[in-house]
Order: sequence, then C-alpha cells, then structure tokens
Amino acid sequence: MTTAPEAATPTDTSEGSAPGLGLYLHIPFCSAKCGYCDFNSYEHLDHLVPDYTPALVNEIALWAPAAQRSQVTSVFFGGGTPSLTSLEDLEAITTAVRERFNVAPEAEWTLEANPTELTAEHLAGMRALGINRLSMGVQSMHADELELLDRQHTPERVVEAVTAARAAGYENLNLDLIFGLINHSEARWRDTLEQVLALEPEHLSCYALTVEPETALYYRVQKGMLPEPDPDLAAAQYEWTRERLASAGYEHYEISNWAKPGRRCEHNLIYWRAEPYLGMGAGAHSFFVGQRFANVDAPNRYVDAINASVEQRAAEGRGTMQQIAGGETPDEATNRADTAILGLRLLEGIDEAAFETRYGVTLEQEFGPALQRHLALGLIERAAGRVRLTDRGLLLSNEVFIDLLPDPPDDPPTDG
Ligand code: SF4
Repeated sequence: MTTAPEAATPTDTSEGSAPGLGLYLHIPFCSAKCGYCDFNSYEHLDHLVPDYTPALVNEIALWAPAAQRSQVTSVFFGGGTPSLTSLEDLEAITTAVRERFNVAPEAEWTLEANPTELTAEHLAGMRALGINRLSMGVQSMHADELELLDRQHTPERVVEAVTAARAAGYENLNLDLIFGLINHSEARWRDTLEQVLALEPEHLSCYALTVEPETALYYRVQKGMLPEPDPDLAAAQYEWTRERLASAGYEHYEISNWAKPGRRCEHNLIYWRAEPYLGMGAGAHSFFVGQRFANVDAPNRYVDAINASVEQRAAEGRGTMQQIAGGETPDEATNRADTAILGLRLLEGIDEAAFETRYGVTLEQEFGPALQRHLALGLIERAAGRVRLTDRGLLLSNEVFIDLLPDPPDDPPTDG
C-alpha cells in the first residue's frame, strides 16, 4: 500500500468517446447513531454542516478538471443521512456537480433517505433539484425490531414517507431491509417483506444482519445482553426471499439486490462491474484511472484538508489532494481478482470473453484451480460463456471469493 496525498492528481486521459463515471458524495451526518452501524456516520455534528457543504463543493471543483473526458452517468448521495441536508445546501452541491462535470442528461441521481425526517416539502424540493431515485432505510416493519436496531422511525412512518415520495413524483424507489435479526423468525420476516411489497418499490436491497466490531450492538452481544444472530435462520429467510420476490416480478440481479425490469441501480452496477467512480466527502472511496484511494474519515479533518488544498492552489497555482488519506495502484493480479469477485456478485456472473479482452488472459489461466474446485463443489457454474454462482454458491459466496484473491507476496528474506 502506498499513500497518495503527495501524488499528482490522477487525470483521465482516455481517448475516444467519453468513458462513463459514477460520482459518490458522502454526507456523514445522522440524527442518531444506529447500534448496528459501522458506516462513516456521526450524530451530534450539526455544528460542522456550515463548513462541510462548502468543503464538498470545493472538492467537486478540485476533481472536475481531472475528469473532463468522462461523462457522469450516475450521482449517488450516501451517508450518513443525506436527506438531512437542507435544500439550500443540496442545491449548492447539485449545481456544482452540473457546472463542473459533464453529466449525462439521463443520469441516475440517487439520494439515501431516512423515513424519520422526510417531509412533503423536502421531498418535492429534492425532486426539483433533479434527485430521481430515493433509497430509503426501512430495515423492518415491526416496531420492536426497529427499536433493537436503534432506528428512530416507526412502520407507520415508512408508509407515510413512501406515500409522500410518490406524491412528490418519485418513480424509482429502493427500500433497504435487514433479515436475520436477533431473535427473528421466518414469520416475522415474511410479514415485513409482505408489508413492503404492498408499497410496490421498484427496487429492494435485503441484507443479513452482521454484528460489526466496535458497534453498540457488538458490545451488547459481547456482554451477553443479546444472543448472536442465527445464520441458519438467515439462510432460510434468504431462500424464501428469493422465491417470493421472483413471484412478485423482481429480478434478482446481485446477491442482496432485486429490481423490477429496467430498475437496477446504475450506480452500484458501476462498483460491481469494476468501472471508475470518484468519491467525494469524508471517508469516500474512489476507483479512478486505475488507482484506488480514500479520503480521511473524520469530517472536521476532511474540511481542514480541503481548505488546505484550496489555499495551496490559490498560493502556488497547483497542489495536492490533501484530503486523500491513502491509496494504491493495484497490480494486475489484484485488478483481475477484484473484477472476478465483484462480477460474481452479479447473478449474471462474469462474461468470460469480456474478461479476456480486458486483461489479455482467460479466467481459466488466471483462476484455473480455484474455478475447478468450486465447479466440483457446485458453488459456481459455467454456461453460455459466463461463470456465475449457483443457488448454493449464493449462500456461500465468501468461500469462493477468498479463493480468488491473489496470494500475498512472499516475505522478504531476512538475515535471521
Ligand atoms: S441512519 Fe444509516 S448511516 Fe446513520 S447511523 Fe443509522 S444506519 Fe448508520
């Protein structure tokens, strides 16, 4: 791993028609920190918002010259809780994106929203600013489960928020759900999913609960206040979910994502296809002109670093991206593994011919023994020029992914 802050700004110098680019904009503020959440998100930081938005607008301006040859096909506001952003601040950010980048007219503009605070006025304002897709953190339609997760909303609030979003003109809604909860049951999960299906979202993301280290939930489990989630129950719920959503007309297109025809998340497809994206804001990650890098996590340090980058440019006419905390230029073996692992997350799997065109080697040459092993175990299958996870492989995908990772470099010899 090499650090990137001293490196010159990576620049897209590709020839020919404009390559596609996704933009990710991180809003790290939340009204309360949920017990299971290990995202780069913070409560009680409202005082930083007046400095954060100008910093984000400045970062957009800092990066834009490097991406002149790209066309932005998706913009994604993630968090944190981007729906807490005032309409004034959101207008400043969306205006900067449109003025600085070449944004496709049909680009997908997604914003992550918390049902708790959504009002009709705010929804209409965001829609008027061009947000055309909302991703709402619903998680459960049972009050006690929402309480377990420290979510602030109620099931009734979810229905109100979705109804208000429809009235404000949103025709593309994703709802996030969590199954495999602590003390969950198949009946309770089925009831949540049926209630959510009645809201007719275009897209559903369903994730099994993971107890992430250093979260409040983790400490409650560690201290014996709560049992661990049951992985067998989660697997059974996942299998039922696949059947139920197929019968309801949703395409299962990624391990944890389902969409009505034509409603797949364009932005997340960029990640899964190992295509370029620029992340801006505290802790945001990027994959741009062959480099992977990430900004500093802490919002106050991010603001200071952006201000320092701007001042340096003003004084010297050029400068470094001081907000970048670290990065690397992955070697070819890592790029091939990333492409294979991310591609296998998609139900369509990896296009073998496209892989060979991209890297000059076949999947077989790169991953032969691992592929043969998992074909024999029935975790992957090969058909019509593609390699993809089987039904069983969807439940055990990590076993496949680990096997595709490149071997770590040998330790350098020591003098003993
Ligand atoms: S609202 Fe979302 S980002 Fe914020 S603490 Fe809860 S789960 Fe994390």
